[in-house]
Amino acid sequence: MDRTTDEPLFEGGTRFADGAQFIAGRVGEGTGEQSAEVVDPSDGSVVQRVRLASTADVDRAVAAARAAFPGWSSATPGARSEALNRLAVVLAERAADFARVETAQTGKPIKLSSEFDVPGTVDNTAFFAGAARSLEGRAAGEYSGDHTSYIRREALGVVGSIAPWNYPLQMAAWKILPAVAAGNTIVLKPSELTPLTALMFAQACTDAGLPDGVVNVVTGDGRTAGEHLVSHPDVAMVSFTGSTSVGRRVAELATRTVKRTHLELGGKAPFVVFDDADLEAAVHGAVAASLINTGQDCTAATRAYVQRPLYEAFVQGVAELFGTVRLGDPRNPETDLGPLVSFAHRDRVAGFVERARAAGAVIAAGGEAPKKGHDGTDLTLGAYYLPTLVAGVPQTAEVVQSEIFGPVLAVLPFDSDDEGIRLANDTPYGLAASAWTRDVHRSLRATREIAAGCVWVNDHIPIISEMPHGGYKSSGYGKDMSQYSLDEYTQVKHVMYDTTAVARKDWHRTVFGTR
Ligand code: NAD
Repeated sequence: MDRTTDEPLFEGGTRFADGAQFIAGRVGEGTGEQSAEVVDPSDGSVVQRVRLASTADVDRAVAAARAAFPGWSSATPGARSEALNRLAVVLAERAADFARVETAQTGKPIKLSSEFDVPGTVDNTAFFAGAARSLEGRAAGEYSGDHTSYIRREALGVVGSIAPWNYPLQMAAWKILPAVAAGNTIVLKPSELTPLTALMFAQACTDAGLPDGVVNVVTGDGRTAGEHLVSHPDVAMVSFTGSTSVGRRVAELATRTVKRTHLELGGKAPFVVFDDADLEAAVHGAVAASLINTGQDCTAATRAYVQRPLYEAFVQGVAELFGTVRLGDPRNPETDLGPLVSFAHRDRVAGFVERARAAGAVIAAGGEAPKKGHDGTDLTLGAYYLPTLVAGVPQTAEVVQSEIFGPVLAVLPFDSDDEGIRLANDTPYGLAASAWTRDVHRSLRATREIAAGCVWVNDHIPIISEMPHGGYKSSGYGKDMSQYSLDEYTQVKHVMYDTTAVARKDWHRTVFGTR
């Protein structure tokens, strides 16, 4: 059924009245004992109540994905590509609707949802529509002299995916698209805090003509639905994005049934400013890179290391610019910064700042919850927190070492280039980093020596569908986006043909008889 034109705009309580599970092409109610509330964190209102999935619902979703696998994996790459191209069109037609719902369930500013999350997802879909047709194996040839060998790159089966709440639509897309482009079928468990756009994405897949069961979404909690999915014997691969601590648990469970794992985990990205950097660019870059998505971005700049000659000016510049950022109603297109995803998370972020303050840190900007928005919104009703700059802390401080996942930037000075790079590498994480310099040798050294899955030079945050995203160290392994992610979702088979037609082959003598 084509629902691209007269789809009602999102109204809390009506859109998902039939339930928050999407299994075998149909929306249904969960049969778990618990319910969850999707809350708009800008004012605490309930956007949607959802009944969570039971383990039986997960079983049904896995069974649907398993049943769909033979047909989908044997479809031609061209057919899969065509379905994904149609999906890109459906998503683009529903862009405003997706942006509204994404903002309602996360509190992120509508300009971010509509200019970043949704167009990024459409572009990703179009990319994987093309990539589906260009799976590669290395050369075929006669390597033994008596055989022809070639490579088949094959889908794995049912992929079980688990996603976080910070970019619910993009995370759903990053998980679903490479998996199905490569011929797998999938069961995705979004965060129970923010399941709505993943459900809409699954509906769009069905409306675009992907066969029932290829894409399934179960809305459930981590302990029940998440662990059951990860441990399920019919799931061939587990793809997880979330915190490093939960990632460890997921890996343990998946290992017991020898599943392939793909882990995109936490980050604590350094932002290294050398003394020849363009200071204005570095200050503006630091504000944008630390505040994007209210700092709830695994690649956000969290630790600025600034070479001593620029340190004071950098701290002053960032503190001043933080003061100009407009907090307010996320639905207002003028709003720069929305609330954090929940009140509990806001309190967690505030706790980091309070402990730093108690330990003697200088709070150069922010450090508290705001009261009034630029548009008159009463911010005390929402989970807001001011952009916060923390100075005067040692490298060992909790705010420098731990992932805060909020609008909090720590800033530290350094003297030599060696020291700057050493400090940048001195956390367990390695997802992303940036180096700010006009010196080609310094930038080459930084990009080579900083241990992270992405290093930007004179910018920090941009991502593109053609390039991989993924971590080093405790930030996990495996790549999202790009042709590299297709490799993750396929397995390589060596096929070997005898070319001699000889019954008594020469090599048999190593097992029996003589030449
Ligand atoms: P989280 O780890 O708390 O939860 C992530 C998902 O795991 C949720 O769907 C949750 O329900 C599920 N889960 C929880 N316990 C589980 C269990 N025992 N078994 C199976 N599933 C379980 O993370 P979050 O708070 O939703 O998101 C924030 C985290 O995600 C941050 O650490 C952030 O850095 C990370 N993240 C990483 C990337 C990346 O690409 N590396 C991208 C976005 C977010």
